[in-house]
Formats: sequence, structure tokens, C-alpha cells
Amino acid sequence: MPTDKLYYSDSYVTNFTARIVSSVALPSGQSAVILDRTAFYPESGGQPADTGLIDGFRVLDVQEKNGEILHILDTCPKEEKVTGTVDWARRFDHMQQHSGEHVLTGAFGKVLNASNIGFHLGQTSSQIDLDIEVLTAEQAAEVERAANTIVFKNTPIHIHFIDSSGLNKFPLRKQPTKHYDNLRLIEVPDFDCCPCGGTHVASTGEIGLIKIRSWERKKSGIRIDFVCGLRALADYQEKNETVKDLSGKLSVPPAELSSAYDKQAARLDTLNKELTAAQKELTQHLAHKLYSQSQVSGDWHIITYTQTNISPAALNDLARELITHPAAVALLAGSNADNTKAHLVFGANPTLTDVNMNAALKVALPHINGKGGGSPQAAQGGGSNIAGIRQALAVARDFLLESK
Ligand SMILES: [Zn+2]
Repeated sequence: MPTDKLYYSDSYVTNFTARIVSSVALPSGQSAVILDRTAFYPESGGQPADTGLIDGFRVLDVQEKNGEILHILDTCPKEEKVTGTVDWARRFDHMQQHSGEHVLTGAFGKVLNASNIGFHLGQTSSQIDLDIEVLTAEQAAEVERAANTIVFKNTPIHIHFIDSSGLNKFPLRKQPTKHYDNLRLIEVPDFDCCPCGGTHVASTGEIGLIKIRSWERKKSGIRIDFVCGLRALADYQEKNETVKDLSGKLSVPPAELSSAYDKQAARLDTLNKELTAAQKELTQHLAHKLYSQSQVSGDWHIITYTQTNISPAALNDLARELITHPAAVALLAGSNADNTKAHLVFGANPTLTDVNMNAALKVALPHINGKGGGSPQAAQGGGSNIAGIRQALAVARDFLLESK
């Protein structure tokens, strides 16, 4: 005898007694228990499985395999007669989302003549795939209005069990994929009717608010992301807090948040440009000062310079500026803000042909425990030993002078 699916005729059964028909010890150490009747919904049709307790033992998962409903438990109950308790909060949440899917699908059909080609009930939100190419914000809002109007009408949701001959009595939006002797239909009168094995609320008012959160283009059409009931409330609460917070920070009412953001972004853009110009000027001044203090050796002007709290990019900018000066040979070193990384940037004026900055870098790198490379004119690298920076610059300078 197949398990009597109590949830098929009544989604509100949460406590039930049953008899263990068989149980199997799984390789994982868990047990799979089959009952003569159950209110536990197995994962199927895009809806996750119920959880709860059987004789006080946690039901971790429920799966339907080869027509049998397997209750996965950590421990197998000892008694043959057991009591099952479905986690109602989780079940009711699934009922709200799943029933909302039917109503929302009905609304997409009515408003846009769109069909539902896929459904997934997720942990925080759910998705419906639709066979349409585009969805505008106005269309989505209209669909939401149509769906929520059905919610507010508090229409009863009917469950029908029919055989194949009864099919043409119902305006099905989706035909069954195979022949059934006993097909279960879910009907929201005058709105949506389709074969479904899931758990639903008794009337649309229990779904609560239906809200489309976003949508994206997929290969097969449009995928919408939506929430219903308590999830919609949680979503609204979270978004309201965010809006309140931003509204306070920017000192504007919610309706002006977007324009306030645009103003801030434009201001930031201007400041960035001003900062870049100021940094360039500062770099030019520093380069000029360092060049004037450079060590002259033959026809070279050698600059060795170390700065803490400087990025490799800023050190590069300084090197680029320095080597525009005649005969400049720049050996620069820096460390990042939290003193965990050392960087070396070596460069020479392009007219100098008797330097090899890459070779100088190679002798310097071991002192900072680093890696890097470059060309005879410019080379750079980074490492982890900040304490070795001074020594790295000294050996690089000595190397260049000896190889001259
Ligand atoms: Zn359903």
C-alpha cells in the first residue's frame, strides 16, 4: 500500500499518528523511515521538504523515491506506532510562497498572456520563469496589482481530484505531462487552475502581500524573483530600515534619495578630479626636491627614497615623474599602510643606456623577500620583509655603481 499523503487533502494537518512500514539504515548513519500515512511533504515540484519530529526525533529531510516517501531521521524510533509533528512555521511559509506562485502566475497570464515555465521556492525568495522576452516596471506593477486584488478578495483555493475524463471541465493553464487516474488540481476560481502536488493555503487572503522584487533576462525568457506573506513583510521591514537610515544620513525625504545620491556622486567625481590634480602637483614638487638632492655619480643623478604608507601605484607615479629629469636613476621603496608589504620601484631616464634596473632589482629583491621584474629602464617588485627595505636600496645602488 502506498503511503497515505495527508497533505494532499489537508495542508493544515501538522500532528498525526502513523505506523512504521519499514526502515532502512543509511550509509551516513541516518535512517530512512516509511510510514503508512504522513503529513510530511517530500521535496518536489520546486517546493522544499517539510521538517519536524517523529516521536521526538528530528526529521531532517523527506524525499519521494519510486513512489515511496522516505523520512530521513538521525535516529530510528523504537516503537512501530509513532507520532509525527510537522514544523508549522516552515510549512506555512512554503504554503504562502507556493500559493502565491499560483496567483502570481494567474496574474501574469491574465495581464501579459505569459506562461509559467519553471518555479523554484528558495530559502529567502522564490523564482518563476516566464516565456516572455521583456518585462517593464509598469507591467510588473500591473501584474502585482492584479495578483494582490485576488489576495484581498480572499478567494477559496480548491483542491480537485479528477481522472483524465474530467480534464476538460477545468480551464487548465498547464496540461498534465502523462496520463493520470487520479490527478490533483489546484484551482483559484476564475484566475488559475493547474495540476499540482504541493501544499497551499485554503484561501488567497492567507497568502498575504505578493511582491515582485526583481527580474532578469534568461535564455528561456524572464526570471522573476518574488516574496509572499511574512517574507514580504520581512523584506519591507528591511528595506524600510535601509531607506530610513539613508534618508537620515543624507537629510532628505525617501522620495529624494535618488537625486541626493546623484548630487553626492557628482560631487565625489569633482573631488576625485581635484584630488588627482593636487596629487600630481605634489608628486612633481617631491620629484623636483628629490632630484635636487640626488647623489651625482659620473653622469648619473641617483635618487634613493623610502616612504611609508604609499601604494605601489603612487610610488610608480613618483618614479615616472623623477625619470623625466636628466640622467635620473630612481631607486624608490615604500610600504603599505599596515606595514605588511614592501614595494620597490626602480627607473632610469630613457636616454641612459648603461643602466640595468632589472638586474639591480634582482639583487635587491631577496632583502625584502620579494618577487618582481622589468626591463633595463624600469623594474618593480614587492615582498613581505619591511625591515629589509633600507638594505635592498643600498645593494641596488652599490650594484649599479659597480657595474658602471
Ligand atoms: Zn501548487
